[in-house]
Amino acid sequence: MNEKTLVRYYDAEKNRFFNGELCGRDGDWHVEYRNDGPPETDLFLSPGWIDMHAHIFDGFGLFGTEADAVGWKTGTCLLVDAGTVGEYTLHGFTKYVAPTIETNIRLFLCISPIGVIFHHDYNAMQYLNADRCGACVAEHPGLISGVKVRMGSETIRHEGLEPLRLASLAARKGGVPMMVHVGGNPPYLKDMEPYFEKGDIITHVFNGRGGDVWNPDGTPSEALQKLIDRGVWLDVGHGSSSFDFDVFERAARHPLPRFLMGTDLHQSSVKKLVRNMAVLLSKLYGCGVSLEDILYGVTTGPATALGLTGWCRLSTVQNATLFRIVNHTETYEDCQGNSRTFHKAFSTEAVILNGEYRKTAAIL
Ligand SMILES: [Zn+2]
Repeated sequence: MNEKTLVRYYDAEKNRFFNGELCGRDGDWHVEYRNDGPPETDLFLSPGWIDMHAHIFDGFGLFGTEADAVGWKTGTCLLVDAGTVGEYTLHGFTKYVAPTIETNIRLFLCISPIGVIFHHDYNAMQYLNADRCGACVAEHPGLISGVKVRMGSETIRHEGLEPLRLASLAARKGGVPMMVHVGGNPPYLKDMEPYFEKGDIITHVFNGRGGDVWNPDGTPSEALQKLIDRGVWLDVGHGSSSFDFDVFERAARHPLPRFLMGTDLHQSSVKKLVRNMAVLLSKLYGCGVSLEDILYGVTTGPATALGLTGWCRLSTVQNATLFRIVNHTETYEDCQGNSRTFHKAFSTEAVILNGEYRKTAAIL
């Protein structure tokens, strides 16, 4: 690594790219502006990518996967665990798993105190307790940044809206946002909408399983429009069953707020369909999402949703991702059996992780 490297950097505040130089050494990196002319290099630098939706309780249940493999080693500097960990399993996570992880992490605590080990997480409703969950959140600032609840027919059977009601109470008590998984119906978004507040997150928003998130023409349903107007974040949360090219392309034909690009990487989606953040971004880029909107979705957007100030600052670079957009032809599948062939792909080069420059594996 030279002391000065030419980069095309993303200024998150201006939502624009400039030519600049990455300068310094470990512990003391910063980006210097050169000019706003045409690109002088194909090496991009952005604030460190944040994955708003991953499952990093490695060795636990159906979902937990190895954090650094989906974290810094593939370009992501901060991973948000989306509810794999609950109040009863938090100690096991912090004692045995967290010390093995180098990537920065935050947790959205599951409203089910055991966390998510398989589907139908709410089999034992008597253990769900909003007061205890909210108190646990409040006791772990800097680690727990939200409360997660799964609300789709793949999870909910006879429990109705009760897990959502409890998660919403817990999030308000803990002073953090709630992340809600949507999927098959019932439950319906129109019934869930009143429990959301500004700053909450709806994940799997482009899934092909449910019927009342989008209208058939791709415009937001009345319930989703209410959430958008309220300032609720939309998150991709691709995973192995929650992204549909058709749903996304129909939605993208209409004005949409900029959204978060959580991968929902877990034991299954890390092997196929998503694999790593760069693949998800390649799919969205191939669908026509602008580079600026993609970078917003992995930097400024999630940093704001998590209340992180200073994450995107480039005057002192603590966390950054260096990547290229390369010629690469691949046929990508979604979760509904649709496929699209794209000819450009994101390829990560390196990260700066907490001030330390690290090469990433060149994976396409
Ligand atoms: Zn998930």
